[in-house]
Amino acid sequence: MSEKIFIGVAWPYANGSLHLGQIAGANLPADIFARYHRVKGNEVLMVSGSDQHGTPTTIKAEQEGKTPKEIADFYQKEFLDCWQKLGIAFDLYTTTGTRNHAEVAQDIFLKLLEKDYLYKDTVSQAYCPKCRRFLPDRYIEGTCPFCHTPGARGDQCEACGKLMDARELIDAHCRICGTPPVYKDSEQFFLRLPAFRDTLLDWIKTKTQWRSNVLNFTTRFLEEGLIDRAITRDIDWGVPVPVEGFDNKRIYVWFEAVIGYLSASKQWAKEIAGDKDKWRDFWEDGVKSYYFLGKDNIIFHTIIWPAMLLGYGGLALPYDVPSNEFLTIEGRKISTSKNWAVWLPDYLERYDPDPLRYILSINMPETSDTDFSWREFVRRNNDELVATYGNLVNRVLTFVYRNFDGKVPEPGELSDADKSLIKNTISCLEQTGELISKCSFKQAIMTAMSAAREANRYLDEKSPWKVIKEDRQAAATSLYIAIGVISQLMTMFYPFLPFSSQKVHEYLGFDGKVEDCGWQPLPLPPGQKLREPQPLFTKLDESIIDEETKRIGT
Ligand SMILES: [Zn+2]
Ligand SMILES: [Zn+2]
Repeated sequence: MSEKIFIGVAWPYANGSLHLGQIAGANLPADIFARYHRVKGNEVLMVSGSDQHGTPTTIKAEQEGKTPKEIADFYQKEFLDCWQKLGIAFDLYTTTGTRNHAEVAQDIFLKLLEKDYLYKDTVSQAYCPKCRRFLPDRYIEGTCPFCHTPGARGDQCEACGKLMDARELIDAHCRICGTPPVYKDSEQFFLRLPAFRDTLLDWIKTKTQWRSNVLNFTTRFLEEGLIDRAITRDIDWGVPVPVEGFDNKRIYVWFEAVIGYLSASKQWAKEIAGDKDKWRDFWEDGVKSYYFLGKDNIIFHTIIWPAMLLGYGGLALPYDVPSNEFLTIEGRKISTSKNWAVWLPDYLERYDPDPLRYILSINMPETSDTDFSWREFVRRNNDELVATYGNLVNRVLTFVYRNFDGKVPEPGELSDADKSLIKNTISCLEQTGELISKCSFKQAIMTAMSAAREANRYLDEKSPWKVIKEDRQAAATSLYIAIGVISQLMTMFYPFLPFSSQKVHEYLGFDGKVEDCGWQPLPLPPGQKLREPQPLFTKLDESIIDEETKRIGT
């Protein structure tokens, strides 16, 4: 029975290049999960896109003397290029700048308005007398009233994650000119979030599969109580408010961007699936929806988006929200403004995608923050990818290719050691799949790596390269067993290391794609013609540690 799996991945702002924190936090786990389910034969829809609206893009545009659209288009192109090179296989990666997205967002807005979940109210709003404009929350900076960190933004404190009203900031000032804002009256729409609190509290009680950090954060937030939130703003960049008299206002980005999951699904149905109603398969009964994101984004996916979906009606709420903690770089929190980051386009220009996917998987910030360092990157690449997995594949396939006429050898009778290695590998394949399906990616890749280590131990013992001189049949048998293990490792590693798994697939003489072979041991008949193998991974020189570390923060 095939399952229907919807995968939503957090939408990055189109205001700067992607960095490793975003990849480890959201995109890579989502991609591993999607690839696994596709191999299993489940129906997967994985979507995301760039968040073009909101002040991050307008601030960047003002800094660079460009229009917000120019900035958004530039980064959209860069993001698409990164996904392709890193192998993040979205079914659709779109933007919030499409006509389709505006229509879907306005439809939700109007439906909530009709059901009385939205109402109009006059608020006094921050206005900069020097810049002569209303100031969106992110244009106001000050000290966080909760944790007292300076430089907090007027919508959310980056340090403690609390949402706030810009007015609560201590020493608030305009981020462009530094003037303290004055307040002027303006009419806005509000979302009645408290109306959903009891339903949400009951709903999260059923979420036993959620990670404890996500569950605790959400529960605490709901228990502290919800308040009505303004969902429109006096800005001109964004989705128009579909109500007369609101021409100079736009739907606020936090309300509109999460709707991207639904609008992207509808766009996918129309433009890619060729059936405009196909999106329903992934939003109605029986679907499991997973949302991948960093911890600063939890409440938008466990409270606000579910509330909007409840208000709209008839659409599936998140099944799981496996939010990750943060990735630090060389022991320090990522800061894009201080350039304390490793930028994805830079990485992809210099190195292969699979080593990065490997280190970010085996070191994924699933339950606590983890650190990326170039020393660790080089060590894991050389000791684990090259020396353990890569070496296993290369020494076996090269030896067989040269000594057995480029074909899978014919085994003799199997010993207990042979059978036990096969059994261990099959069990690792099952466990790896089970762990991925539970979003336990770090454990999953460690299990796959343990299967590779076990195969190396077996080969060291059997030593077919020596034995072949006296007993060709014994060598053929152990090599046959090792090739079988390699073909299962190719499957186990596929969600994590898609590029090298596809290579192994070809070296083993298979045609087509690994993805189409199922999550099971593949039959590998003796006599199957192999293709000439090449080294799977490249050993990195230690000198890059210094070179790369020096680039950070400068
Ligand atoms: Zn704070
Ligand atoms: Zn100002």
